[in-house]
Amino acid sequence: MTQSGSAKPHSLSPSSWNRWEICPRQYWLSRQRLPRKTGMAASLGTAVHATIEDLVQLDLSGKDNSETDWMPAIAEERLQARWQEEKEIFENTPRHGDWKEKEYSKARTQQAGGIELLLAHAGVPKLAPKNITVALWKRVMALVLAAEGELRTKDGKLMGRLDLLLADVNEKGEITSWVVADLKTGRAPSPDLKPEVRRQLLLYRDIILSNNPNPPPIRAEGWYTDTAKTYEAQGESVLDDAYAAWKETIPGTTPLEPKVGTNSCGGFCDWKAWCPHWWSWRKDNGTLHVGDFIDAVVLVHSYEPSSGAASLELCEPIDDTGRPLPTGKMVPAVFKGRGALNFELLKSDGHQGPVYLGSILTNAQSWRIGSWCDVLPWAPIADSSTAE
Ligand code: SF4
Repeated sequence: MTQSGSAKPHSLSPSSWNRWEICPRQYWLSRQRLPRKTGMAASLGTAVHATIEDLVQLDLSGKDNSETDWMPAIAEERLQARWQEEKEIFENTPRHGDWKEKEYSKARTQQAGGIELLLAHAGVPKLAPKNITVALWKRVMALVLAAEGELRTKDGKLMGRLDLLLADVNEKGEITSWVVADLKTGRAPSPDLKPEVRRQLLLYRDIILSNNPNPPPIRAEGWYTDTAKTYEAQGESVLDDAYAAWKETIPGTTPLEPKVGTNSCGGFCDWKAWCPHWWSWRKDNGTLHVGDFIDAVVLVHSYEPSSGAASLELCEPIDDTGRPLPTGKMVPAVFKGRGALNFELLKSDGHQGPVYLGSILTNAQSWRIGSWCDVLPWAPIADSSTAE
């Protein structure tokens, strides 16, 4: 595999590793500077991470140690600020749906979960934030050895973002162990950590171990803020596997092989508009245009801007390159919200050919293409293409 001309050395993060495991082509496409996509869950997660990071680095020097009822106001002020930052980033990301302001209450719950986890780590669980004294929070902060730092092996090949590195201390205040804590704002595992999360936590642990010659015992934990529960990842070193994956993922100009299937193309893949393989996979297994939420490549024959009503002609793949064959099958549809906006932008850019529509809702007489949908030019990158 060839190394691209980029001056930046190749390094592998757990999310890239995971993407590559799901489908090498997905990983390759994710590195082609195609228009990025974001969603509310990611923005909420980033805002919660940032606010916890803020709270463990507060400057409390001007406050009396016995003061209480100060945390709720500071926590709210930090969350508001981080929420607004994320909103701006969300709106400036090329592919996004509607910003859901009502999700703020979820962010507040998750922030409270993060505070609860920190208090529990300091041995004071179930304390209402208004009862946190300044002295207690200083104790919590003293247990935080690092917050939101970059982790990288000495050779630079493996990396990740460490949320929190914490100390466990004994009665004498001596450090007895380290805890790698990764804040998780997604659904808590039931009952065990997902394999990819476990592997990520073990990788963080192993990078720290490889960089520190004489560390104390280290635990790696997922801290689930929604339920304020921790889950420990245990297991052998994953460094050998990570280095093997690093080697396989050195960026090259030729598209990596696709791994079609229910867990890859059938799940979330943000790069379908540039990949022909989900399409032929669906056609071959008889699931093209089947289901309540579907992806399709269509020709838009008519569009009424005032109502968003449209007439779509379904296309099928001629072959594995993604060349479309119009089928003559017409479907009524309605473009709504950002779906309509994105289609109008496509038209104003002069696009005339087939359109990729992602996550169309099909359970009504007219298909609905709403704010949650991708509306993109159909531009599959063939297997033999090379990136510039
Ligand atoms: S559509 Fe399927 S084959 Fe193509 S990149 Fe996505 S997961 Fe891989």
